[in-house]
Amino acid sequence: MIDATHDPNLRSWVESANQKDTDFPIQNLPFGVFRRKNSGESPRVGVAIGDRILDLTLCYQTRLLEKLPEQLQAACGASNLNPLMAMGREASSALRHRLSELLRYDEQKSLPEREILVSMPDAELLLPAEIGDYTDFYASIFHATNVGKLFRPDNPLLPNYKYVPIAYHGRASSIVPSGTSIKRPQGQRKPPNEPIPTFGYSKLLDYEMEVGFFVGAGNRLGRPIAIEDAEKHIFGLCLVNDWSARDIQAWEYQPLGPFLAKSFATTISPWVVTLEALAPFRCPAFSRPQEDPAPLPYLSSSLNTQLGGIDITVEVWLRTAAMREAQMEPFRLSRASFEQMYWTLAQMLAHHTSNGCNLRPGDLLASGTVSGAEKGSQGSLLEITQRGARPIKLPTGEERSFLSDTDEVILRGYCHKEGFAKIGFGECRGAIASVE
Ligand code: MN
Repeated sequence: MIDATHDPNLRSWVESANQKDTDFPIQNLPFGVFRRKNSGESPRVGVAIGDRILDLTLCYQTRLLEKLPEQLQAACGASNLNPLMAMGREASSALRHRLSELLRYDEQKSLPEREILVSMPDAELLLPAEIGDYTDFYASIFHATNVGKLFRPDNPLLPNYKYVPIAYHGRASSIVPSGTSIKRPQGQRKPPNEPIPTFGYSKLLDYEMEVGFFVGAGNRLGRPIAIEDAEKHIFGLCLVNDWSARDIQAWEYQPLGPFLAKSFATTISPWVVTLEALAPFRCPAFSRPQEDPAPLPYLSSSLNTQLGGIDITVEVWLRTAAMREAQMEPFRLSRASFEQMYWTLAQMLAHHTSNGCNLRPGDLLASGTVSGAEKGSQGSLLEITQRGARPIKLPTGEERSFLSDTDEVILRGYCHKEGFAKIGFGECRGAIASVE
């Protein structure tokens, strides 16, 4: 799994990729879709390297990829990542190896550097794929327990939780790239002390810090994917903010789960970090307490138990208008480890297809809110403020129970391990628009 592309001693001729704190060293090579600002050009596939983007359409046109199979070269010239995703792990791995060679320091002289690189501030980052379907899981037992306590104090964790990777079908059409401003939704809300609901703007707007993963090669309808094969169908990971209107959610969620409380917007980070880039950061699946049931056989494999987890640190930062005016840095609301999730990516994907449901290249699956057991590791305001009962104090003296208009939420993620280059996910940003 670990090969020459992960070598911590690799250096790139793109200078900014060698700086210590970059999210995008040559060991990362995440894929995305972009276009040059104000250029009118069509969307194109790119790879983040330092503070630049390698333009794969230009690499393809200038024959820098000509050693690769024809179909794979064509996928690099596409307007989204779906063709590359559809080709499966071997193809994206071959491309990763070629890109690692191209960007290594010793090949500098042979490349027309200026043309194939775009400076990130000069680019508009778009959705990486055409997302046909979106499913959001609920894989953190800490999140499920925290939220369960608020809604059902005497019965927080439902009896199916330790057997079934719970999920709901989200809305693909309202997934937006980082930086898109978010409109506060209107809907039905019924506070507990009111006899009937009213319709209006959500007053309890929240974020959820999540990790998403894109389906690579799909499966045919009626053909489940075995857990042993599940990771062959995962292209890569991104950060997801599952914006949630808690007042709408509380009133509508029974008996069929979230609907309009979530479907108004979901923000994702623009760069897709491949599973291959994450190889050095794999770890055992969550170690279940002894009294917990073992996963059913279709959700269990020895490889999954040993290496099904990924050690990703995820963080949420908040920046209010007052903080922006005072030129203050964003304030960190939480930090958690993806290692702590009760269900692994492979278990979620195997479960999703276990009834024969077909997944298609570019489908997005998300983990659910990443929360840990410790204070400071809760991935939503609902949990941090106990549904508004304990507002947080910000360095400006402001208080927040839920999000206010013009607040900006920033998710960050990174992987760090002794002996390897640190890699990051970039940012997943979104600000709440002011209501006119
Ligand atoms: Mn969610």
